[in-house]
Amino acid sequence: MRIIFATANRGKLREAAEVLGPGFEVVSPLDLGITEDIPETGATLQENSLQKAQYLFDRTGLPCFADDTGLEVDALGGAPGIYSARYAGPGHDSEANMDKLLAELIRLDDRRARFRTVVTLILADGQPHFFEGSCEGSIARERHGTGGFGYDPVFLPDAYPGRTLAEVSEEEKNAVSHRGKAIRAMAEWLRSKVPGAEKC
Ligand code: IMP
Repeated sequence: MRIIFATANRGKLREAAEVLGPGFEVVSPLDLGITEDIPETGATLQENSLQKAQYLFDRTGLPCFADDTGLEVDALGGAPGIYSARYAGPGHDSEANMDKLLAELIRLDDRRARFRTVVTLILADGQPHFFEGSCEGSIARERHGTGGFGYDPVFLPDAYPGRTLAEVSEEEKNAVSHRGKAIRAMAEWLRSKVPGAEKC
């Protein structure tokens, strides 16, 4: 089954293809010549992921899914949340976002945080289905590691004590990550509800 993932991030595409398995061909909007920015103006992760999936479905009529992720820090009342990408400004600059986060927490001992992802899947009938995943952890005092992307160098997942997400392998990250869990839930649902989906 061919399925569009609303992302231009090759790492995310690879991760989704791996989780969905050989029966699914995961393609990006770019692969279909869709190059415009997909609107993302919702007030929640669910609204944003629905908006992205709906946009692609309306544009193509093909099975598609979209994800939206936020980093929620307890001591900051759940911020940056849906504003994670633009925390330090409109530039979506990960280094500036991490600088701002570390500065906000500089004198705080409570560093609990989690990544949360909502995935919206829309199949041929046009009905949206939602899948969630989260990854519990804490914010480090400084950056460690060179892998991953976004906030990975400052996020210490509970699953790998003493290592940030930028210090674990891609495989280790996918096994415990918010997005890995949400996409696995979607894959299980697809296999159970749409028998033979992978042959479409
Ligand atoms: P998006 O919903 O994937 O666009 O992500 C929103 C924000 O969270 C961006 O700043 C991303 O860099 C960040 N983000 C999303 N997923 C991850 C992750 O797996 N690790 C670290 N940061 C992430």
